Amino acid sequence: MTVKSVTVIGLGPMGQAMAAAYLDRGYEVTVWNRTPGKADGLVARGAHRADTVEAAFKANDLVVLSLTDYTAVYAILEQAPGALAGRTVANLTSDTPDRAREAAEWLAARGAVQITGGVQVPPPGIGTPDAMTYYSGPEKAIETHRTALEVLTGIDYLGEDPGLAALYYQIGMDMFWTGLVGFLHGQALAQANGISAREFLPNAVKTMDFRYFLEFYAPRIDAGNHEGDVDNLTMGAASLEHVLHTAQAAGVDGSLPAAVLDLFRRGIAAGHGQDSLTSLTKVLKG
Ligand code: NDP
Repeated sequence: MTVKSVTVIGLGPMGQAMAAAYLDRGYEVTVWNRTPGKADGLVARGAHRADTVEAAFKANDLVVLSLTDYTAVYAILEQAPGALAGRTVANLTSDTPDRAREAAEWLAARGAVQITGGVQVPPPGIGTPDAMTYYSGPEKAIETHRTALEVLTGIDYLGEDPGLAALYYQIGMDMFWTGLVGFLHGQALAQANGISAREFLPNAVKTMDFRYFLEFYAPRIDAGNHEGDVDNLTMGAASLEHVLHTAQAAGVDGSLPAAVLDLFRRGIAAGHGQDSLTSLTKVLKG
């Protein structure tokens, strides 16, 4: 019987969840973390604590990295120059596509292979059936380690370019942060008017169910069709002015709707007043 084994480096909330998922599935798990105490709970459950990064790398062919960013990745990899060759590094650390590509080259120069991953779920989602991770990098390495990677999440393989997974992840984060802050701004406006977040929740859920709009607009964006047959920037700007004034009247910071209004006004100034809000993609690309 093959012993299933893996190393996990980085025991923040995400790395903890990953190491725990491997233990749950009967893997031999070696862990290392800059602050060693964070491994205590996992060690109590049977994980092996590596005393050095080098020992953590030497313990297994597959090394999962779950760190804050690639600055942390290099801070760790540079501690194990002699132990990288021959390893596959599943780098599930978020950062920019360029940094992911650089790290893949950096590792290749030292005889290691990087699989880049962008995890699409929070730590409690690790090991659950619908969880997915964007992966890119050498398909052969992903296939070799498919079983171990699938302990964590499903695999959404995007291609050989090691930057692709990071790119998809960042596009998703762009939508996530800006969309979610829109939700928070609306809830601040509700609260400032004595309406609780929970009271407004059913309305928020309906308003933020963008699926219809996303599916309607995506083919038009691809086709460069910004026809203003269902909406236009002039109408949108008038609506945003009402939002801004309502926020200001309630003493709520208006910088978010003001920034969106500014974008709409730039679109109008560029001649898109009667075009759909999808014409903003042209303004955004400059
Ligand atoms: P954390 O920022 O909490 O992880 C921190 C880990 O990085 C810790 O192990 C920390 O060590 C280590 N670290 C940071 N800087 C250094 C350094 N200079 N040298 C050595 N180690 C360092 O992140 P999470 O655990 O929440 O997430 C890990 C990755 O997963 C991130 O890239 C994140 O973007 C991504 N992700 C996270 C999600 C989430 O909801 N948490 C969701 C999807 C992706 P120490 O314990 O010593 O501080």
